[in-house]
Amino acid sequence: MRPAGVVIVSGALMLGAAAAARAQGATAIERGRVYLQVAERVSPRVHVLRQRQPNFAGVVGNTTVIEQNAGLVLVDAGASHGSGARIVELVRSISRKPVTAVVISHWHGDHVMGLSAILAAWPGAEVIAQEQAAADIAARLPRLFPSAPSASYERERIRSLEAAYADIEKGQAAQAKTDAERAGWRAALGARDLRLADVPGTHLILAKRTFRDSLTLPDATTPVELRFLGRANTSGDVVAWIPSERVLVAGDIVVEPTPYLIQVYPSDLIATLASVRQIPFDVIVPGHGTPQRDRAYLDKLAALIRTVRAQVEPLAKAGVPLDSIPARTRFDDQRAAFVGSDAWLGYWFDAYGLMPLIESVYNEALGRPLGPS
Ligand SMILES: [Zn+2]
Repeated sequence: MRPAGVVIVSGALMLGAAAAARAQGATAIERGRVYLQVAERVSPRVHVLRQRQPNFAGVVGNTTVIEQNAGLVLVDAGASHGSGARIVELVRSISRKPVTAVVISHWHGDHVMGLSAILAAWPGAEVIAQEQAAADIAARLPRLFPSAPSASYERERIRSLEAAYADIEKGQAAQAKTDAERAGWRAALGARDLRLADVPGTHLILAKRTFRDSLTLPDATTPVELRFLGRANTSGDVVAWIPSERVLVAGDIVVEPTPYLIQVYPSDLIATLASVRQIPFDVIVPGHGTPQRDRAYLDKLAALIRTVRAQVEPLAKAGVPLDSIPARTRFDDQRAAFVGSDAWLGYWFDAYGLMPLIESVYNEALGRPLGPS
């Protein structure tokens, strides 16, 4: 049922230049490089699968692979059946042990929707989520995804992705003002064929095991402690702490190189970031982007949220309308701290970070409801 040419999305092709060169679709892989994940070892028993470059059109959440004695624990599952199938291949390239559990860090589809492929490979794997995240998955994702493979869903999803890419081509890509933005959009558009080929087979699988505050997945060498530290990016974000490795998996509470701050809980996010900071990690794995080996990025993120609150709250309380806020505030230092002079990263800093954060801070200041509508 997969379309012709789907061989090009085989993750095995990413594992070596020789294999890639044998593939008929090598050019499509080259064009879609920003979309594909690569494996990075962050400690003796922890690997991270992450998109190769900062990628914003077609995001796939990081998957963390934790090796226990009896098997592997994954944190997050990819964004589609096809991306899940590549995760399976990458995991098998790291260890021959079976996957025994998949922890979902939060309800967003780019961390959930590859479960179908992962459970097809390891049917015994237990799917675990914090109880609010599990409730959000069950309430929100069935509106977007079928509960079993569905030809009509796949047709409609491919049609809407094709339309979205056509809009980008005529819109943002054509109107880009800088070389950095033009190159960024070109790279994003290059992933189109891989992304369409990932759609078939995608369907929703719900978490079977839930917990409220904490859950330990025991192991003689590599226990994994799951903790809910409070609302942050969503109302059910979980971090995974692997004390023997001194690795903390943060989910989308931390996203690098620019944050995702869409429909967040600003006060709770500040408190949760402070709790994250106190965990004695040597490596923190973000929900997207590159693992960090110090606390500098965390501090930059906390400073951004505090600065936005300091400027936006008084204006909100003084009755300034939301659409006048950007013109009456200045966050040049914060933007420069995240993106330097890179106009492509600057576009996404504004679109996924600063502007939605301003809106959430504004709503919180006025006591309005937070989170997804
Ligand atoms: Zn995400």
